[in-house]
Amino acid sequence: MAVETRIIHPDQLEQAVSLLRQGECVAFPTETVYGLGADALNAEAVAKIFAAKQRPADNPLIVHIHSREQVAGLVKGYGQSVEILMEQFWPGPLSLILPKGDIIPEIVSGGLDTVALRMPDHDLALKLLKKVDLPIAAPSANLSGSPSPTRAEHVYQDLNGRIPLILDGGPTGWGVESTVLDCTCWPFRVLRPGGVTVEQLQQFVPIEVDSSVTGNSAVEQPRSPGMKYKHYSPRADVILVVGNRVPEKINQLASQPQYADLNIGVLAPSEHADLYPNLTVLDLGPRSQPKIAASRLYHLLRTADQIRLDAVFVEGFAEEDVGLAIMNRLRRAAGYKVVQS
Ligand code: AMP
Ligand code: MG
Repeated sequence: MAVETRIIHPDQLEQAVSLLRQGECVAFPTETVYGLGADALNAEAVAKIFAAKQRPADNPLIVHIHSREQVAGLVKGYGQSVEILMEQFWPGPLSLILPKGDIIPEIVSGGLDTVALRMPDHDLALKLLKKVDLPIAAPSANLSGSPSPTRAEHVYQDLNGRIPLILDGGPTGWGVESTVLDCTCWPFRVLRPGGVTVEQLQQFVPIEVDSSVTGNSAVEQPRSPGMKYKHYSPRADVILVVGNRVPEKINQLASQPQYADLNIGVLAPSEHADLYPNLTVLDLGPRSQPKIAASRLYHLLRTADQIRLDAVFVEGFAEEDVGLAIMNRLRRAAGYKVVQS
């Protein structure tokens, strides 16, 4: 039966605390995207996350904590390099994969013997985690496959009637999910690029980037199970265009007969808005500031659906710093349809 989904404000935090303590799931903001949290030590509570999101059971969840003192009780041990990363990047958008402690139920790790831990850099999230004082398993608070939510209203669009509560903390900051770093191999390996960049991590430990990160097709047996699923996709067709003559190519593609009677949009930097007189332009912000593009990306993909675009072209980004995370999400939003210009 459908539940009533209430949206509450930060001063009503106690309601979120008591639901989480009762084994219910609650959506809450972090600095990356909104998460759908439940008590990570309670398998029944965690099962409600999978049911609400319709998430495949083999796609593990990230466990959120508020203090480094919680780590030892959740994992089987870790070395000096992991200590250094926690010191440097926590709280922050970095999820560390470590050997799973027996206390973590299998449902959290999707049957793997590892668990991803992260401490979010968001006052309200940290306050919630401190008050609940339980490790909270939380994937992004969207229906599986759709763009991650960066506003409470996005969570409501996807999960209304499926979860009891959304804690509204306003728009999130980063807009793309955390960097997922496997610390059970050497060198450590980036399985998903995010807010903490490869360049930053390399200053402290040797880092490899998993081939699935920049790959142009879905991986059958990825090290991060989430990588094999359709992701970040609006209903509209997404076509990613890269190369040196992107605006010309997009205008040329959009004028093909197959698009003649359709509503076509383009996600482009502010400077290029005037180059698309016949298309609906969704503004990714100044070209020189990919961080702004990251924070707008999922909202604009959802906007494309709301204004009923049939197809949306996207200008590619340079794959450096946060651009690596943006391009990783865009390739997958586009179902790996990438056009070279
Ligand atoms: P989400 O929280 O919805 O952004 O998804 C979490 C991502 O982290 C997914 O891509 C998962 O597959 C990945 N992940 C979580 N835990 C692990 C783990 N123990 N090993 C590998 N990947 C993981
Ligand atoms: Mg997700």
